[in-house]
Amino acid sequence: YTYDALAPYMSQETLELHHGKHVATYIKNLNELIQDTPYESVSLYEIINISADDKDNPNAQKIFNNAAQVFNHDFFFNGMCPDCGGNIPEEIANAFGGKDKFREQFKSAATSLFGSGYTWLVRDGNELKIINLPNADTPIAHNMKPILNLDVWEHAYYVDYQNRRGDFVDTYLNHLVDWDQVAENLKQ
Ligand code: MN
Repeated sequence: YTYDALAPYMSQETLELHHGKHVATYIKNLNELIQDTPYESVSLYEIINISADDKDNPNAQKIFNNAAQVFNHDFFFNGMCPDCGGNIPEEIANAFGGKDKFREQFKSAATSLFGSGYTWLVRDGNELKIINLPNADTPIAHNMKPILNLDVWEHAYYVDYQNRRGDFVDTYLNHLVDWDQVAENLKQ
């Protein structure tokens, strides 16, 4: 979608900075870091999982951070659309004691994450969980299946919401989440 597609909930300026600058830099860095290495010929998923445990490579942490940020942002941007309807799936409502309780618990997690990172809805074994992971850390490095993620790095909301992270979380849950995509993610 275009950079103005999520306005007014997420402005064109935010998308230009967040996707056009931040994500573009992660992609550029990753491509430079893996050039002429074995990472060049494997999938993004494999880059993340191999670099997470690659004790021999002094660049492993940088590779992990940039690769995970590419995955995390793809997942984030693919999971949004403006007021596109859909409802919180029953499976999620049932797991958290109702739709309002899910929203409350997700917001509580997202507003309590200290510093940079993401709040995730994941499937861990058979259980749906809301978790916070710091910085670039990603559920796929912990054998958890991502269902939904909210980027709460300041670059995600500061232009539009300044210090009001809670308002950003409410807007995300009420206007930006593509619940049909979430339902697809639950099925996979
Ligand atoms: Mn971000």
